[in-house]
Amino acid sequence: MKTNKFFLLVATVMVCVSSAFISCNNDDDNKNNSKELGDKAVETLRTRLLDENGNVVFGEPINGVYEMALENEADAKEVVAQYVNNEKYNGEATTYNLPDERGKVRVEKGAEEGIYYSVEFNVKGIPSMTLQVVDLNYMEGENKYYPFTTYTCNSCTKTFKLPNMAVKKCTFCGSTDVKKEN
Ligand SMILES: [Zn+2]
Repeated sequence: MKTNKFFLLVATVMVCVSSAFISCNNDDDNKNNSKELGDKAVETLRTRLLDENGNVVFGEPINGVYEMALENEADAKEVVAQYVNNEKYNGEATTYNLPDERGKVRVEKGAEEGIYYSVEFNVKGIPSMTLQVVDLNYMEGENKYYPFTTYTCNSCTKTFKLPNMAVKKCTFCGSTDVKKEN
């Protein structure tokens, strides 16, 4: 009996040791994995927010806030869905925490009529900024209209929209083999 109990104890310790090894390996894998995911998430946002020179694609900020005008709420929601990396984005206030602690994207509903969303970017590798997604009519006189162009990716065949000034690069697979839709 004594031996059996001892054996059981040893066996238990061994199981613990091996799971310790396994979880250790998993941690390493997760770390590499999340670094990759973090890189990819930041790169995806850079494609959507910055041009080839790393400048914000939305022109000059007004009182520190960038504005992007869209024709309707559906378009606004589609664009925000891209920023928060959620194809099923429901239009409510939300926070997207990037993998590997690269920062976050916070979305609030517009505070007044004509503002669809207010999006705050605090992401490593991207200038911190607030972007208001507004209705075309909300913008005053000044030429602050940044229409989107629709592209189809020749590589993954998905269709997506980008601000005209953005790098023409697929927001899904990163391919630059994209064609403009009319
Ligand atoms: Zn693609």
